[in-house]
Amino acid sequence: MNRIKILPESVKNKIAAGEVVEGPFSVVKELMENSIDAGASEIDVEVSDSGLKKILIKDNGKGIYRDDIPLTILKHATSKISDITDIEHISSYGFRGEALSSIASISKLTIMSKSADEETGSRLVSYNEKTEISDYAGAPGSTLIVENLFYNIPARKKFLKSRGTELRKIREIFLKTALVTPHISFSMTVEGKRQTTLMKTGSAEKRVEQIYGRDILDNLYYGSLEDIKVRISGFMSKPDFLKSTRSMQIMYVNNRLIEYKYLGFLLSQAYDAIAPKRSHPAAILFIDIDPELTDVNIHPAKKELKFFDQNYINSMILNLSGKILGAQVHKIKPSLFKTGKERTTEKPDMEFQGSLHEAFQDHPSAAGYSPYTAGDKGFHTAGHPSGSAIPPETAASFIRETAHIYNSIQNINDIRFLGVAFNTYILAEQMEAISIIDFHAAHERFIYDSLIAKDAEFESQSLLFPLVIELSIEDYQILLEKLDNFLYYAFDIDIFSDHSIVVRAIPALLNESGIKDFISDVVESFKAEKNHISDYRKSIAEKMACHAAKRAGDNISDEDARIIAFKALSGDHDFRCPHGRPYIHRIEKKDLEKIFKRP
Ligand code: ADP
Ligand code: MG
Repeated sequence: MNRIKILPESVKNKIAAGEVVEGPFSVVKELMENSIDAGASEIDVEVSDSGLKKILIKDNGKGIYRDDIPLTILKHATSKISDITDIEHISSYGFRGEALSSIASISKLTIMSKSADEETGSRLVSYNEKTEISDYAGAPGSTLIVENLFYNIPARKKFLKSRGTELRKIREIFLKTALVTPHISFSMTVEGKRQTTLMKTGSAEKRVEQIYGRDILDNLYYGSLEDIKVRISGFMSKPDFLKSTRSMQIMYVNNRLIEYKYLGFLLSQAYDAIAPKRSHPAAILFIDIDPELTDVNIHPAKKELKFFDQNYINSMILNLSGKILGAQVHKIKPSLFKTGKERTTEKPDMEFQGSLHEAFQDHPSAAGYSPYTAGDKGFHTAGHPSGSAIPPETAASFIRETAHIYNSIQNINDIRFLGVAFNTYILAEQMEAISIIDFHAAHERFIYDSLIAKDAEFESQSLLFPLVIELSIEDYQILLEKLDNFLYYAFDIDIFSDHSIVVRAIPALLNESGIKDFISDVVESFKAEKNHISDYRKSIAEKMACHAAKRAGDNISDEDARIIAFKALSGDHDFRCPHGRPYIHRIEKKDLEKIFKRP
């Protein structure tokens, strides 16, 4: 039996550090927050090798007094609180005095700082449990450099995601921190190259525009609600601006970025009537609440927060969504969100831009993009601007081309096409069973299989007018990093300016009118943490199949239905669509006999 012993101090420190510093992005977060706490109006962030080699943060804040500099890396050394009761009304990001001591114990940390009140500044270098202090001649403010992160905890380093993913997390935390502090200028430099500059602005709206682009801002409503102790404001999706993930659901409480586990659920409730399944609204919410009604001291990285009256906050979020969307879709489930104290939240102070009704009228195609136009030709081709080059080869021709293969299948005569029900399901009889086939899902699978085939080649169609698309800073960077995958599928995409791209050609399979949605859908799926090149290709193939396949409700001709039925029953394909939903249901003849009680 092992006996209990107390761990040496250096081991204790490293364990504690691991809780605060999950990865390089945590260092960026902690240091940016320190700079904001120091009252900086300019903050520059530099990273190399996804932060593992070096993270540098420079600010023009109030600096650190020479006598204080050795204290910064001591545990629980903070200038922000002096008493436990101070935590109850904390307005700074920091208060535990843990970040710098943690970072110092797992990296080489250099702090160069000068306070405006002192003649000379000082430099502290801490590495391998040794600390040196010297003079520093520089402008007022602080520069912190973190090198060799995790050098002494290799296990942690091993568990980091790919460099690309770590850099993405840094960029995400950088932008989310900047989002809530529009009065500060920020820049981000990666491998010596300035990637992002955010000039200080007067309003949250301007900062949202800088980060996400005018286009996305135009797709958001703004609203606010106020009560005695709580103010909630923010931006939320217009009804036809929905995303395939929850990555753009962001919440700040007293300027602190919080992971609020009910947010996704609440927004789904609010958009229940207008958002199709698996689509999510964007929301950027700012909650200002009397700090005494919260506890931020519950998570090592302060990512979570406790509201003393959570139900009340939930109902505020729902009320704000309801007001923003208009009364039609305002559905609160009273049993779930009964507020403890009956407080009133009705205050006519909300800025509100347009009603739900108007939004729908502006966008008659709110239900989603469809590459096909119904017509007696069955599949495709309308919707393409006339005058454009050769009409695109589409899924239709692909299916027709392969139709002859089925004629050669031995038992092809066993399949009898019965018809199409609800313009959605194909009915076919084969051997001793009836098959019901979901046209769209099956179609998606066949297109997908053709796209991921090893020897696949992709036809490209040039756009008559190159398409310029503005993306958010984050999406733009992700797209650039993964551009190869788009080129593989015969896209011709180039950098245009700032965070815009220009699309000159697209795969023949797709329709120009849906390209913008397509690209944002794909980038969204890239944010999921996948590291293999083949996963990125598959994500694109999935989205291409989804965008190119006929939709439920599109007119399905008998000819198309017959081809899909034969293909589905040929046994060459998985019986699931690329997202994993089954597309075929069989009813055996003997089961029918049971139902009808035939002898
Ligand atoms: P906390 O932020 O919880 O106080 P930290 O370990 O992050 O703890 O920082 C310790 C102290 O170092 C802070 O309380 C602050 O006094 C000082 N400090 C850190 N970064 C800066 C900075 N960029 N400018 C001025 N002071 C700083
Ligand atoms: Mg701090």
